[in-house]
Amino acid sequence: MPVTAVVGAQWGDEGKGKITDLLAQEADVVIRYQGGNNAGHTVVNQHGTFKLHLVPSGIFNPNALCIVGPGTVVDLKVLCEELRNLEAHGISTANLRVSDRAHLLMPYHTLLDRLDERERGRQKLGTTGQGVGPAYADKVARHGIQVYEVRDPKRFRAHVAHELETKNKVIERFGDKPLDAKQVADEVLSAAATLGDRIVDTLPLVEDAVRTDARVLLEGQLGAMRDLDWGIYPYVTSSNPLAGGAAVGAGIPPRYITRVIGVVKAYSTAVGEGPFPTEMHGKEGDALREMANEYGATTGRPRRVGWFDAVAARHAHRLNAFTELAVTKLDVLGAYREIPFCVAYRLDGRTTTDMPPTAVLERATPVYETCVGWCGALAGVSDRDHLPKAARDYLAKIEASVGAPIGMVGIGPERSATLL
Ligand code: GDP
Repeated sequence: MPVTAVVGAQWGDEGKGKITDLLAQEADVVIRYQGGNNAGHTVVNQHGTFKLHLVPSGIFNPNALCIVGPGTVVDLKVLCEELRNLEAHGISTANLRVSDRAHLLMPYHTLLDRLDERERGRQKLGTTGQGVGPAYADKVARHGIQVYEVRDPKRFRAHVAHELETKNKVIERFGDKPLDAKQVADEVLSAAATLGDRIVDTLPLVEDAVRTDARVLLEGQLGAMRDLDWGIYPYVTSSNPLAGGAAVGAGIPPRYITRVIGVVKAYSTAVGEGPFPTEMHGKEGDALREMANEYGATTGRPRRVGWFDAVAARHAHRLNAFTELAVTKLDVLGAYREIPFCVAYRLDGRTTTDMPPTAVLERATPVYETCVGWCGALAGVSDRDHLPKAARDYLAKIEASVGAPIGMVGIGPERSATLL
């Protein structure tokens, strides 16, 4: 297996966790390359149902090395809790490593995230409030603290105290209680001690994996529409889920990534604010949300739901050059006699298949074509050729409109419910 990146091609929650879990059975190394514990990858396998936030979805393969990559921001306390939960379910986490160059998501980031959302009021971004945005903001502003710094507690404490001098001023201005530097440092150092020698320089491990032709999986979080540079700014995540981000965020030279899997749901969902042209409102949306159990894995928030948007998926393909698509949740559409399929946008009197910038996208209305539904369950189908003709036609429509071939089709949440 070459180096493979698993990338979200919509607004996130496409089912990347399931696809990564499946591919990880054959992988030697699995690396989460961006984001923080705002991710919520749901994995359903023989061990049960798990919501992974920071830990790579490869953790269920005892032979795979799982790396929280240098491009991530890590709340060490949350990571320790996640590991404890996995261990409690009998999953070994011995093979987990955390890059010492990743940035620490500090307790003040979480607080600042919530305060910022509160102050934005009606213009809020709809973040998960986990502090990911403020942690990346500090990284870019050169106020971040990298994970390796916990190795020198005295210096670390001084760094935390220094950062808190300004942060506390902001926190107080927002009307909240300032944080105590010692308490903050103690909390992070205690979690770091629990992780112990799992905190490493991951570059030699990754370099060695590539040199020995090991099978490497790069796992992204969120999707192209939430990419910091190419998504619906400012309703985006603070890092780059695109395959281009995978190279930097995992510490792997871009030319080694030869397989890029774009994960799309057979329809669309979004958590958080921002334009979402094919959104279904009212009873129609409620019905799909309930039927497909579209509630956020991290926050439990109801997800916004809509029809498949080929403009968005093609936008993702233009930026990622997917070698293949993985279509998830095809089974859900078995409930519909007719399935609207967005092939373009109408915008200011013209039709376009280009993705406009955010404020313009707010005005776009979808141009739909109607696909015929197959009106039935897909459970038990074990071969793509045995899918109902209407379902095969629907998949062919996705392939043609996005411009990439479909390699995998999900017809249920379980690992096994995937047609290859
Ligand atoms: P991720 O963050 O991209 O991994 O996506 P989430 O885990 O947040 O959301 C995907 C949801 O869809 C999870 O609850 C999965 O268990 C579920 N899922 C994934 N693939 C399929 C599928 O093919 N069919 C059905 N019915 N559910 C699926």
